[in-house]
Amino acid sequence: MPAGDLQARIKEAADAGGAAYFGVADLSPAVAFIREENGHIAASFPMAVAVGIAVPKTLVLALAEPDADPGILAAYDRYIYHVCSPLLEKIALKIAGVIERAGYRALPVPASQRVPGKNLCGFFSHKLAANLAGLGWIGKSSLLLTPQDGPRVRWCTVLTDAPLNAGSSLQKDCGKCNRCAEACPAGAIKGRAFDPREPRSMRIEVEKCEEYRNKLAAIHGVRTCGLCLAVCPFAK
Ligand code: SF4
Ligand code: SF4
Repeated sequence: MPAGDLQARIKEAADAGGAAYFGVADLSPAVAFIREENGHIAASFPMAVAVGIAVPKTLVLALAEPDADPGILAAYDRYIYHVCSPLLEKIALKIAGVIERAGYRALPVPASQRVPGKNLCGFFSHKLAANLAGLGWIGKSSLLLTPQDGPRVRWCTVLTDAPLNAGSSLQKDCGKCNRCAEACPAGAIKGRAFDPREPRSMRIEVEKCEEYRNKLAAIHGVRTCGLCLAVCPFAK
């Protein structure tokens, strides 16, 4: 099957599943990083399909309201982890099926999953795939910022060796903005611009974020903070 036909069928599956964002990444510029971070199986895939779903602006911006109602925190948690993530994983599964039926390998990466021993990281960085697909750039918050919805997008990835047509990495930065670092109640965000040569720990101390969200869970029953999303000018 010609690459264009397969890509069109993959996009159809993504659209039918409800994806608002779709892109294809050429992973070759990042293969050494992927091998080191994710192992040889992940590094054996030259391409990735990135899909995303935008989280409603009203829900995200409500997180930054003074004394945000616990009901808002619970609603955000519900839609992110119990609605968006399963929906994205279903889309990824459908895409993997389309690719494998065409005779290629396809490895769907779970939308929200932490791998034990990986310092609060998943099996593969969805943000890396979406960035290389040209869907957004990585901000000082370490979130992927899209031109349309800023950081209000949840992502999922399918790694593949199918010969697809990739987008180009989006190069943009936060400029002088530092709102996420100023707003972070845990002091986790360092206000440092993304540099692909540096580890994530240069920009964000995820342990501090985790500790703060665990404290919130003890108070509200959900681990929702999200202030770094809600204050980002691109989220509006
Ligand atoms: S979720 Fe909250 S604590 Fe964690 S980095 Fe964002 S603003 Fe900081
Ligand atoms: S709040 Fe500002 S500094 Fe932080 S990610 Fe958004 S644009 Fe970048």
